[in-house]
Amino acid sequence: MSGIAVSDEAVLHGMDKKLAPGIESGIISVGIKKDGGYKKTSRIMDASTFAALGQDVTEKIKQLGQGILNGEIPAKPYKKGHHNPCNFCKFKGICSSAEGQSRGSV
Ligand code: SF4
Repeated sequence: MSGIAVSDEAVLHGMDKKLAPGIESGIISVGIKKDGGYKKTSRIMDASTFAALGQDVTEKIKQLGQGILNGEIPAKPYKKGHHNPCNFCKFKGICSSAEGQSRGSV
């Protein structure tokens, strides 16, 4: 399972009962060194940082939701390298985005 876990032993052990010193979890992205510390590849965060991240995400979702309610819905598709959802979109003919316009918008 990808993602970030809270660096709380009880929580981590609750997610993977086999997690122990010298073991890399096969379930979560956490490994424990033989000396007890977390392996460098572990994707963990302390509880307060995790809570702050949760608050930031919640705030961002509220802002996005309010923007949608206010009619602010720009066409900003996610693009990565040559991967572009506009290439497969059935609405590109009427889309106002740069990608949609380049293919002939209304
Ligand atoms: S063509 Fe327009 S509607 Fe379709 S994916 Fe691209 S931005 Fe979104």
